[in-house]
Amino acid sequence: MGEQRASLLNRELNIHSLYDLLYYFPYKYIDRSRVFKVSELGSQLQHVQLIGEIRSFEEMGEGVSRRLVAHFTDGTAFVDLVWFRGLKFVKNRLKLNTRYVVFGKPSMFNGRVNIAHPDVDDASLLKLDNMGLQPYYNTTEKMKRSGLNSNAMAKLVQNLFGLLNKEIEETLSPDIIRKHGLMSLDDALHIIHFPKNSKELQLAQYRLKFEELFFIQLNILHYAKDRQKRYVGHRFAKVGDMFNRFYHENLPFELTGAQKRVVKEIRADVNGNSQMNRLIQGDVGSGKTLVALLSMLLAKDNGYQACMLAPTEILSEQHYATLRRMLGNLPVRVELLTGSTRQKDRLPILEALENGDVDILVGTHAVLEDNVQFRNLGLAVIDEQHRFGVVQRAKMWAKNNIPPHVLVMTATPIPRTLAMTLYGDLDVSVIDELPPGRKPITTNHIFRSRSDGMYSFIKKQLEAGRQAYVVYPLIKENEKLDLKNLEDGYNQLCNIFCDYRLGKLHGKMKPKEKDEEMRRFAQGETQILVSTTVIEVGVDVPNASVMVIENAERFGLSQLHQLRGRVGRGASQSYCLLVTDYKLSEDTRKRMEIMTSSNDGFEIAEADLKLRGPGDMEGTQQSGIAFDLKIANLARDEQLLQFVREVARGVVEADPECCNPMYRVVWERLRMIKNMRNWNWGAIS
Ligand code: ADP
Ligand code: MG
Repeated sequence: MGEQRASLLNRELNIHSLYDLLYYFPYKYIDRSRVFKVSELGSQLQHVQLIGEIRSFEEMGEGVSRRLVAHFTDGTAFVDLVWFRGLKFVKNRLKLNTRYVVFGKPSMFNGRVNIAHPDVDDASLLKLDNMGLQPYYNTTEKMKRSGLNSNAMAKLVQNLFGLLNKEIEETLSPDIIRKHGLMSLDDALHIIHFPKNSKELQLAQYRLKFEELFFIQLNILHYAKDRQKRYVGHRFAKVGDMFNRFYHENLPFELTGAQKRVVKEIRADVNGNSQMNRLIQGDVGSGKTLVALLSMLLAKDNGYQACMLAPTEILSEQHYATLRRMLGNLPVRVELLTGSTRQKDRLPILEALENGDVDILVGTHAVLEDNVQFRNLGLAVIDEQHRFGVVQRAKMWAKNNIPPHVLVMTATPIPRTLAMTLYGDLDVSVIDELPPGRKPITTNHIFRSRSDGMYSFIKKQLEAGRQAYVVYPLIKENEKLDLKNLEDGYNQLCNIFCDYRLGKLHGKMKPKEKDEEMRRFAQGETQILVSTTVIEVGVDVPNASVMVIENAERFGLSQLHQLRGRVGRGASQSYCLLVTDYKLSEDTRKRMEIMTSSNDGFEIAEADLKLRGPGDMEGTQQSGIAFDLKIANLARDEQLLQFVREVARGVVEADPECCNPMYRVVWERLRMIKNMRNWNWGAIS
């Protein structure tokens, strides 16, 4: 192709090589083996194919609506074929009373069915039996303007196949192909672009999805195995004084069944020979902090230090306060280190850390990247994982010769498929039980025009001694406008709630001011906290019973659920009120429906995955793993993913040293994918 087209493909579709083009798959196919009757047409049909003749031409309209109309019939009825461009060219090319195959998308115009800019081919030249399914490629506006539309893409791919003079080499080993009845890669790639029928298309899709998911899983599992081999773990063999005293004397309540189970799993991990890498998923309020604390006490009992990382300063401080409070007068030294820890407080902490006097260090990850040295870090707890990628975890390991056990906690429940892909190298524990006595949060969707009723409702809650959050969206691109909305909202609320004390919190404030606001709210000095999503993660004010989310349409499901989780932490009934405009997109309506009908974080996460696709899921971007899956779909292909994972596991188990000739193609392929420019699972390598 010419340079201009090539550079369009570069820029618009990130296609830089024949290989990229080969793996640029159609997004849909249209069956061109079927011929419709003109009498069957309505505007509801997608693309159709007709066979018949043009009886007459007519030129009509002026200026932009100037058009050429061909009256076309197959004997059952007439349909208008319409061209707005290239009138002369079309009229010269097409003949009356000649059999043509017409292909296009019908629409209604002035009560008549017409087809604008159809493909018209001489019926004697077109063999319909060979046409099969016609591929459709996504192209951009820019490409279309340069004539690089779906058809042109199909031609390029056709040319590409013409250039290949031998079969495309197989990437899966013969035993896998045989055992799972897979189509060869060569066939699959041909068929995915130009299928003859939907049956062979399905087989090709299956093969390519299988392959795509297989190599992701192989990569993760191979990596996990390797790590297991390379790193011996610190052994926490005993359950000692601190754990027992805390458990029997300090704990004000029973652990839930789920908490007990997870603590057991952790104990088994740290008592083995390898390094623990465990992800704890638990819905907001399920009591992850306590599980973390118990694990850190195990570390202490075995002579190790522990640290706990949180993504924000507010959250670190809260963890710090919680741990101190829970530990009471047990002789466990906890310190806090964040970006705003003053220099003169910092040095003694660093010293104590290095000589082993500090048992537990709480902080943000920024701090750990500095020259913070532990004497013997045995366990790292990372809270709210989705802000930390695999890369950061790896940094943690570099802190010692023997890497610490790693416990990752996330309150964003991640659908299984995504977890397996993102954190496939982690073992997963689930806390699927809330502490007893929690009342499910009541969620309502409210139109802004009706917010008066909402305000009187909030007043009643405040009169009963409760507190409320009012959250506004804050998005980077829109920051100025959003901050103004927050300010306006705040002022308006100050008028409405003039008898009450309001606080204001947003990310632009200095850490100190933020803290002060947060503290005032936590201690009940303010009753309404007007805020951006900085309160999203982890903040715990049990007395707050109302969460109002303004412009709820601008939040994703997971984020809404996170925000909602800020209430319902005390004993009283809590409410979440989602405020939106009256006019809503279909998508927003669905989100509101899911939120008002479900309190289950996993259900919501699944729904979110289906609505948005994994590329947009919270966490996937920050994780450093982009999800440009070419054909598999994590929302739809869960079963296949699980199946393929086992196949990949089989290979890793059978050939741990990657030297069995049988699997050579597989390992070579993995190496090749990892070296490719577009490989972005590279975080794990
Ligand atoms: P999250 O999983 O969201 O981090 P937290 O650890 O903050 O949850 O716990 C939420 C609240 O529940 C805290 O106030 C905590 O003290 C309390 N909690 C934790 N475990 C239990 C339990 N087993 N029984 C009663 N309350 C608990
Ligand atoms: Mg938490």
